[in-house]
Amino acid sequence: MAQQEDNLLKKIISHAKEYGFIFPSSEIYDGLAAAYDYGQNGVELKNNIKAYWWKAMVQLHENIVGIDASIFMHPTTWKASGHVDAFNDPMIDNKDSKKRYRADVLIEDHIAKIEAKIAKEVSKAAKRFGDSFDKDQFVATNQRVLGYSEQIDSINNQMKTAIESDNLSDLKTLIEELGIADPVSGSKNWTDVRQFNLMFSTELGSLAEGANKIYLRPETAQGIFVNFLNVQKSGRMKIPFGIAQIGKAFRNEIIARQFIFRMREFEQMEMQFFVKPGEEIEWYDRWKENRIKWHKILGLGEENYRFHDHLNLAHYANAACDIEFNFPMGFKELEGIHSRTDFDLKAHEEHSGKKLQFFDPQENKNYVPYVVETSIGLDRMFLAIMSASYVEETLEDGSERTVMKIPAALAPYKVAVLPLVKKDGLPEKAREIIDELKLDFNCQYDEKDAIGKRYRRQDAIGTPYAVTVDHQTLEDNTVTLRDRDSSNQERIDISTLRSRVSELVSITRLLKQL
Ligand code: ATP
Repeated sequence: MAQQEDNLLKKIISHAKEYGFIFPSSEIYDGLAAAYDYGQNGVELKNNIKAYWWKAMVQLHENIVGIDASIFMHPTTWKASGHVDAFNDPMIDNKDSKKRYRADVLIEDHIAKIEAKIAKEVSKAAKRFGDSFDKDQFVATNQRVLGYSEQIDSINNQMKTAIESDNLSDLKTLIEELGIADPVSGSKNWTDVRQFNLMFSTELGSLAEGANKIYLRPETAQGIFVNFLNVQKSGRMKIPFGIAQIGKAFRNEIIARQFIFRMREFEQMEMQFFVKPGEEIEWYDRWKENRIKWHKILGLGEENYRFHDHLNLAHYANAACDIEFNFPMGFKELEGIHSRTDFDLKAHEEHSGKKLQFFDPQENKNYVPYVVETSIGLDRMFLAIMSASYVEETLEDGSERTVMKIPAALAPYKVAVLPLVKKDGLPEKAREIIDELKLDFNCQYDEKDAIGKRYRRQDAIGTPYAVTVDHQTLEDNTVTLRDRDSSNQERIDISTLRSRVSELVSITRLLKQL
């Protein structure tokens, strides 16, 4: 199973490169770890995801507005937010291989190995007992499985206590006691565990002018908090209201891996919703519901999503959960929804000396609003779509195809216009059609190779509709409209093409279901 999942990720990575979705960054110099470039099709898909999110947030809600804050911010911002002191991961180096790891990840990988042993016992027993096998009962009673489960609980507890109390030497002792070896070299020759701050820093201005250390923002949220009052006043916003933002964030992840799932430069789509204190949990529940709906409307499979409630809350949160998606590597965080209390605004009040409050005319008093945040990684959303859309299938005629079943509203190109042959005036007619359609949709024109081959090329980049111009078109002004997923074709009049395609591919269709 794990191998199959690994294969799917590999296939997606190579498909993404071959068809212009994602290239390794600066590839001619052998690339840069965990940095990727979006190609000609990738950028279109990415822009469409942004549009779907932005419209769902800003266009559909009278009380949500957007901003675009700068990446560089006053350094005190990150002191106030807690990132300078606490945005750390525990890291450990192997002295022989010189490789660096996240201490908690090494331990989690060790736990995964024990979990795999449990899975093996379960599958052995399932084979032995056949139809009468009761998995829950087996797991609850089998001595060997119980022993493994106890081991896992004990390791988890020790790790949690060490991390929460910032006891790095206990973390190292745990790694040693478990006999964890470097996965590459097998060596157990470890350094001490150290904290590693994930923020990238640089200097503003030349040294001669007296340089100032500044950071590349590790999240977009703080750009929203520091603008709370600007937006509230200039937009005459009343609580509850929200501020949305899409933008780049940077984290010096110790191990960046799994393609675009964990990068050092990535993009976030965040919305901070300011509410009256005491009403935050109600709003948190409403945003949870709204966000999962936004995902499910895309049709990537309801079974691919699940909520993961945080049991150990960050110090600033009074409720938090992740929406997890079933990536090729298993269920992992795609989006976070957090009730952040008044932590951020209060911290900025303290550090800036400015009041960040709202005057509530009904209550006739000022208060610092509470905040409910929704935060989704754009690149992770991209990977979710790519992995759920990638399908290899055999067609009725026995031929094979790889098709990206990308939701039509998000697909890079909406229509391909294809003259059946490269003569008899068909290319000219096709050009006429495309000139009309391109005013509304991203279109592709293709006249090279047999029609079947051209369909395959469009399938591979996820174009949901193909219009074929044939000899009959010249006689009665009709074309065939082919559906990517079913391969069904219908014959329609050219005069209805624009409205028909628009009905099928517009983001409006998704928004109506929200
Ligand atoms: P993780 O636990 O996976 O490191 P996180 O809990 O630190 O993620 P948040 O700080 O809540 O993530 O950020 C919000 C969203 O930003 C995440 O849900 C994820 O989609 C995205 N994100 C965070 N870190 C990265 C990264 N290194 N690369 C790509 N996307 C990321």
